[in-house]
Amino acid sequence: MIVMKFGGTSVGDTAAILRLVDIVKQRQPEKPVVVVSAMSKATDQLLAMAKAAGEGDRKTALKLSRTLRERHYNTAGELLGTALFTQFHGDLGIDFEALDELLRGIAAVGELTPRTTDHVAAYGEMLSSKIVTAALSAHGVPSTLVDSRDCIVTDSAHMRAAPLFTETNERLTKNLQPLLDKSSVPVMGGFIGATKTGVTTTIGRGGSDYSAAIVGAGLNAERIEIWTDVDGMMTTDPNLIPEARRIKVISFDEAAELAYFGAKVLHPATVLPAIQKNIPVYVLNSRNAACEGTRIAARAPHCKNFFKAIAVKKRITIVDVAAPRMLLAHGFLRAIFEAFDRHQVPVDVVSTSEVSVSLTVDSNEAIPALAADLAKLADVKYEGRKAIVCLVGENLRETPGIAARVFGELSDVKIRMISQGASEINLTFVIEEDAVPGVVQRLHKAFFSELDSAVFA
Ligand code: ADP
Ligand code: ASP
Ligand code: MG
Repeated sequence: MIVMKFGGTSVGDTAAILRLVDIVKQRQPEKPVVVVSAMSKATDQLLAMAKAAGEGDRKTALKLSRTLRERHYNTAGELLGTALFTQFHGDLGIDFEALDELLRGIAAVGELTPRTTDHVAAYGEMLSSKIVTAALSAHGVPSTLVDSRDCIVTDSAHMRAAPLFTETNERLTKNLQPLLDKSSVPVMGGFIGATKTGVTTTIGRGGSDYSAAIVGAGLNAERIEIWTDVDGMMTTDPNLIPEARRIKVISFDEAAELAYFGAKVLHPATVLPAIQKNIPVYVLNSRNAACEGTRIAARAPHCKNFFKAIAVKKRITIVDVAAPRMLLAHGFLRAIFEAFDRHQVPVDVVSTSEVSVSLTVDSNEAIPALAADLAKLADVKYEGRKAIVCLVGENLRETPGIAARVFGELSDVKIRMISQGASEINLTFVIEEDAVPGVVQRLHKAFFSELDSAVFA
């Protein structure tokens, strides 16, 4: 069997879902399990309505819900035709009534907890998986809707729940294998799961890729296909640099590093369950299904280029923590990291000197409170509008002089932090956000003008 995951844009409207139907049809003999994201932007909209309701703004919440309802009705209507849609309409209606009921409840209490947020957010994938199942069946592909909450068992860390693999694998086999045996395509929503006692959870933004990997690993898939809106993993974000080229094959480690540092084409954790079982993952374009995409393999072949790709993560804040020299005692770093932990702010890049530490974090609302807390330990400054640029490639391990080449290209650029070595395959630095387009353009030109044809398309 194989797992085929379709992201938000690949189920975003009628045309996209019809493309999905064609793609799945071609793979039917390989026994696919289909995992879908919510329709593009639906999760953002659901979170916006939850937030409005939490602030007591019932009107806005229900208005947003109405817009989402219409989009789903319209898409389902176009996909199913009048006769089938009449039946299906009622089914969708029940979900939207329940969603509105939930929003009214949240607004009445005026409080939004992570647990209720998950209840609201889960509607995106619940609805898209229903529509996709109906569309597949209506277009001649026998398919069955599987509620992910019956299969993906997680802990109760709402909004970033972790799967419990033993229980999940058992449930996946029990619920999906009989469908595969009778050649019905199981369709599941990504991103959602439930605790052992059945409370709805979600596994983190962008988590449908992870769901696909969990399903693939649980059922020992021959491969996992991540269908998205670009030709595969590219040498850099094609929306930033149109000259970006497709990477034909990349190692698990490189792909994970790229994902971590901003190449959102793949969720970082995706690679984990797949690595452990040596299952190949492909990134493919649902708008250009004939393209071979990118294969993510345990080991990448030797590559003549220094790097595989450049990732960029914007909206970064640098936090500088400087201790008076005499106070720099043992335990200082621990105290700093404990403060980040207390405020639940994850750190990406760290650099230290005798008296100070600089750290980067995603810009967010928790920073002022964190800074106030850190100020009890030392002098603190923080500055937003920064970006992390990360060059990734396994050749970094062995080739001397690469850093000199990179920074030689950028001799006039103000570089705020540099880090290399943690994984041995990335060279990472922090610049002003405004400088991103120019810097990436120059690096791309310098390192990707001539490409090893065994690795790049
Ligand atoms: P999906 O909705 O299918 O999960 P995402 O929006 O999460 O899709 O990821 C696809 C997007 O990732 C692309 O549209 C592209 O803008 C972005 N992206 C960033 N870096 C890269 C890269 N190196 N290669 C390909 N896509 C990238
Ligand atoms: N719909 C979820 C999100 O937007 C999960 C996903 O698309 O992967 O974060
Ligand atoms: Mg994604």
